[in-house]
Amino acid sequence: MYRLPYDEWFDKYQPIINEITGDEQYQFETYGDELQYVLQQDDKHIWTEMDGDQGVSIVSGYHLVNRIQYYITVKPWTEDTEVPISIDKQCDCQEAIDIDLDSPVYCNECESGEGYITIWIDTREEMEEIYGPQNV
Ligand SMILES: [Zn+2]
Repeated sequence: MYRLPYDEWFDKYQPIINEITGDEQYQFETYGDELQYVLQQDDKHIWTEMDGDQGVSIVSGYHLVNRIQYYITVKPWTEDTEVPISIDKQCDCQEAIDIDLDSPVYCNECESGEGYITIWIDTREEMEEIYGPQNV
């Protein structure tokens, strides 16, 4: 699986604007006219934004499971590609052994006490911080 940051993906594959909604947006919904339009496209031009175990990412091709929305790009993808959008990282507060679940302590780090931090990934620098340097 080839991994690409969002800004490079955007420049390389060029998502088209969704003309159906009349708004200046790239996302296509998973139902109705927008879905019908997505299904008329070649799979090589379709991308699925999905909510996985690790976080949210845009992956090449049409997928049903865990889908959030779709994108259609001018340029076709040629190999399985993942564009990480956000990663859910376990907070350090979850490593404390004696957490009292009945009275969770407010944690400044994850801002809730739920124990997860959402990290947004937009650039290659941010992506490499999470995954380490990529082999391109
Ligand atoms: Zn925390």
